[in-house]
Parts: sequence; structure tokens; C-alpha cells
Amino acid sequence: MSGPLLLRGGRVVDPAAGVDGVRDVLLADGRVARVAEGVEAPEGAEVLDCSGLVVTPGLIDLHVHLREPGGEHKETIASGARAAAAGGFTAVCAMPNTDPPIDDPAAVGFVAAAGRRAGAARVYPVGCISVGQEGERLAEIGEMVAAGAVAVTDDGRPVMDSGLMRLVLEYARGFGVPVADHPEDLGLSRKGVMNEGVVSSRLGLVGKPGASEDVHVVRDLLLAEMTGGHIHLQHVSTAFSVEMIRRAKERGVRVTAEATPHHLLLTEEAVDGYRTEAKMNPPLRSAADREGFRDGTLDVLATDHAPHHYDEKEQAFDDAPFGIVGLETALGLGLTHLVGEGLVDLPTLVERMSAAPARAFGLPGGTLAEGSPADVTVLDPEAAWTVEPKRFLSRSRNTPFGGWELRGRAVTTIVEGAVVWRLEGADGRG
Ligand SMILES: [Zn+2]
Ligand SMILES: [Zn+2]
Repeated sequence: MSGPLLLRGGRVVDPAAGVDGVRDVLLADGRVARVAEGVEAPEGAEVLDCSGLVVTPGLIDLHVHLREPGGEHKETIASGARAAAAGGFTAVCAMPNTDPPIDDPAAVGFVAAAGRRAGAARVYPVGCISVGQEGERLAEIGEMVAAGAVAVTDDGRPVMDSGLMRLVLEYARGFGVPVADHPEDLGLSRKGVMNEGVVSSRLGLVGKPGASEDVHVVRDLLLAEMTGGHIHLQHVSTAFSVEMIRRAKERGVRVTAEATPHHLLLTEEAVDGYRTEAKMNPPLRSAADREGFRDGTLDVLATDHAPHHYDEKEQAFDDAPFGIVGLETALGLGLTHLVGEGLVDLPTLVERMSAAPARAFGLPGGTLAEGSPADVTVLDPEAAWTVEPKRFLSRSRNTPFGGWELRGRAVTTIVEGAVVWRLEGADGRG
């Protein structure tokens, strides 16, 4: 554990604590010790000048693929944790669709231990819903939770068996963790490689209709209501799904939901030219879910960081894998295009990237209230920069945002009171 650290004179934006104003933040013994004006630096404290900068609770990404074990050429737990820190994230939730999948307590323990060894962002393991992600038998939910799993999901695949989904909602409720679902009816979407619509017709590509998502969203909401379980809907991409989630919330259903930066900022038009960097699942659709993010129906901004090797994305559109990396662009995209264009204000973006994800998965942090974990993101809202994939700390470069000019980024990332990442050339002033 490092010595005390005083973050002096930044604009502290901590929506969960109702704070938005210039404060000093003292971190000591891995905790937030004080948030106030004019805090004296204790003996031996390091002081970071944060004037002109914004100090927020550490950002949390509920949805990342770190590819280890089995896909280390795309990403490892360590490289992913470093990429997360470079993007301003102090914690990430690792999806279990590795090879082999994370479907038992030993595998969950492996992810947690590798995350701790990385010494960057915290890595929280997520366990599988079904053994081997085969959608047949329920995995050992209780044992995985005891080993550190913070949620369960078969992400990468949907749970096609509605009876299994009912069962896991009942079990997970008993163990106090949410069930995260990748909502997709494979019968409707199976061979699709992009959104079904005029663009897929023009390009001669097979589409996945929006209904393939909507059918499972509605099913999951019904089953969550029936069981009293907590459903967390991943990467929601259609306006209809947003509307159904809104109504379910009004009925008191325990539901949380993700928006991704790419679904908020890009549309199916990005596929034009058969650009495989725009191939993802669910596919880019219209920008129809932007309102759901604005009004909080989609509680959480999550990246669905999905690293793939260069060669794999160089294949023909039909053959290339789904997914893009997101950890090192999410905050800059959010600041530039969601805050910068007035969709949400800065405190709301911070809330959707810290407090809301912490609440959704029951994680520590999400606030700088005194006594909270000393996980902090310091960002420079004015820093102008260009997305250069070759500079990513991620092992993969697959992004449709290469060359985008952004304003605002993380300059210092602090986990448990220790600086785990600092922007090169930044002295605290960015
Ligand atoms: Zn998914
Ligand atoms: Zn995913």
C-alpha cells in the first residue's frame, strides 16, 4: 500500500454523494479519508495538483472480454487491466466466454488472482450461467459466487432455454448476484452479420432483425418479474427493447441495462464498404437507443470490449469475428460526443460510468464518500487527442474509432490509493 495522496484543487464530480465543486481529496490506507476544501497534506503525502481537472469516482466497466485463458494473442487479463487503467477505469468485470469458459470456482479464482497480479484496474470475475456455456446444465452458481464471481452470464451466447433462464434467475437471487444476459434469439438472428434493413439489402449481407433482441429482452423481463430475480440486460441496441425496459422498471421489475458507446454513436451506415471494424453483435442499428441513455432507462455505459487479432478482422466481412475494443476510447467518446453534444451532462456521464455500474453489480466504489475505496479517475475535460490504435495498451487494435479527434480523457487512474496509470507527459495538469 502506498502513502497518503492528496488530490488538490480539482472539480470533484461525485453524483452518488451529491458533490460537484472544487475540493481536495485525501486518500490514505486505501480509502478516501477526506473530501473538503483546504485539506492540509499530512506528513509524507504526495500531492497531485488537479486544478483545471475533474476528479471522479473510479470508472467501472461491467462488460469486458479479456480472452484469458485461451485467447492470449488477443488480450490477457494483465494487458486488459492495463488498457482499462489507461482508459480511466479502476475496475472491470471479465466475461466468462474464454476457452475454456469460466464455469467453476477454480476458474473464477484464476481470473481473480491474475487480476490482482496485474496491479492495474481491479478485475472482477463473472461466471457462466451454464456448464461450458452449452445452455443445458446450470453451472455451480453458489460456489462461483463464493470464489468471487460478481454476476453470471453466458455472454457471447444467449440463453436459449427459457426454463434455464428462469432457474438461474431463481438461483442467482438466492446468492445475491444479478443474471446478465446477451439477449438474442438465435432462431431469428442465426446467420446475420449486421442489422437487417435497407443497408444490409444494399450490401447483400444477411441481417439480424431488431426483433431477435426484443424477443429475448421481453422474455427476460417477464422471467425477472416472475422470479423476483435481477436481470441485467447487456448491450441493448433497439428502441423497442428500451421501451420494454422502461415499462418493466415502472412495474418494479429488478432490471438494469447497458448502453455501449458504439451503439450510441454509430449506426449501421458504418458497415458501408464492408468495414469489419463495424461488425459487432448486437449489430450497429439506428441511433434509436440514445433517448434511453439520456433518461437513465439504460443505467450503465459499458464497453463490451472485445479484442480480436488483426488477421481475424482482415477476413471477408462474413467471416470476420464480431466485436471491437472499447476500454481506451469509451471515456473520450463519452466526453466528446455524449457530453459535448448535450445528450447528457458531465455528472450524468460520470454516474453512468461509476455509481450506476457499482450499484448494478453490487460492487465497492462508485463514490468518493469518505471511507470508500480509494479508486479515483482524474480526467482532463479539455485535452484534445486523436485515437491512435497503435498506441493502445490493449493487445488488439480493432476499433472503428481510429483517427477520431476527441476532447477529454483520463490523465491519472488510482486504485486503492496507488497511481496505476498516468498519461505520458501529464504532470497532473494533463
Ligand atoms: Zn454479448
Ligand atoms: Zn460481450
